[in-house]
Amino acid sequence: MALEPMAIGVMLGVGEAPEESIQKVLDVGVTNAQMGRPADAWLKPAKAQELKKLIRRKKIAITTVFCGFDGESYADIPTVRATVGLVPKATRAARLKKAKQIADFAKILGVKNVAAHIGFVPEDPTDPGYKEIVRTVRNFADHLAKSKQNLCLETGQESGECLLRFIQDLGRKNVKVNFDPANMILYGSGDPIAALKLVGKYVAGVHCKDGAPPTEKDKLGTEMPLGKGDVGIQRFVQTLAGLGYKGPLTIEREITGDQQRKDIVKARKLLERIRAKVLA
Ligand code: MG
Repeated sequence: MALEPMAIGVMLGVGEAPEESIQKVLDVGVTNAQMGRPADAWLKPAKAQELKKLIRRKKIAITTVFCGFDGESYADIPTVRATVGLVPKATRAARLKKAKQIADFAKILGVKNVAAHIGFVPEDPTDPGYKEIVRTVRNFADHLAKSKQNLCLETGQESGECLLRFIQDLGRKNVKVNFDPANMILYGSGDPIAALKLVGKYVAGVHCKDGAPPTEKDKLGTEMPLGKGDVGIQRFVQTLAGLGYKGPLTIEREITGDQQRKDIVKARKLLERIRAKVLA
């Protein structure tokens, strides 16, 4: 299903009941979504085929599948450091295996982009841990390359400079960026617009999310409804357009329940106005 330029979509978290989750995409008035990792049972090929049929029936385009791993917590920065992504050593091998399983699930769905938080990559490239994580991420990227899929690195836990160096050190053509400007603010990783310009040519997906910076050491900032935080969402979309980005604008609102739906609908309307101006 071909999407129009900067098609507005939503980040879809799926759990035990993907059928219900998928309906939530339509409920906020969009027809494309990035999809979180479903429960393990759904990763099996037969269940993935079933899900593919359901998505087709609902006429939804899945633009990216997101990796997530058991045991991850975003409670505060030390916890993210210890638990998130492929960086923590104790879980690395098992998570790499799981990541490949999620990639194969995405392949069955016909989804080219697979995204992940890698975790806190060491900022110092001479750190022995840096080389190890480069090797691990290359291994994952090479698995994806076999089926012409991309690995999209979710931004936020590092500065734009570090991310650019990491991509260059990986040296794999299928390594891209899923740019989340709010994460950069929530983690205090620098100005998202400057970072976006730095890694612009690698951007294959974005999260339209907003937030305010941390006010306490080791804490994350506060995620906010789109347009209410420090991202400057209009400038963000304008900068994307200036870079020639034509991919989807995926709304992410990391709360649950009816407030999430209401905030996403408002975000959609805000993005519709911005998009009309930017593409005019
Ligand atoms: Mg995000």
